[in-house]
Amino acid sequence: MAEFRCFECGNTVVTGEKFTFTKEGAIHFSCLVSKKSRSIKKENYAKLRVLTILMDSELQHLLNILNIKDVPQEMADKIRVKYKDIEKAVNETTQLLNSL
Ligand SMILES: [Zn+2]
Repeated sequence: MAEFRCFECGNTVVTGEKFTFTKEGAIHFSCLVSKKSRSIKKENYAKLRVLTILMDSELQHLLNILNIKDVPQEMADKIRVKYKDIEKAVNETTQLLNSL
């Protein structure tokens, strides 16, 4: 994996950590959630909670796919497409979370 630095905490994103991308760059999932929870209006707390749960499970799904070992060559493309689909879902959730 390419190396990214979280623009919020300044630490390197380590393989296996949950993170996403925003316009400002790479950010840990936990850094994004705490940044948002400090800045949003009270009436958006319930939305933040739902999006946090959703994104956590999407990111876990991505990590689980990355952890599948010894994928047969003829399946590699299909797994890559699956990965891309979930990556797209993470990007959408990131945008929803960021728009709160
Ligand atoms: Zn961070």
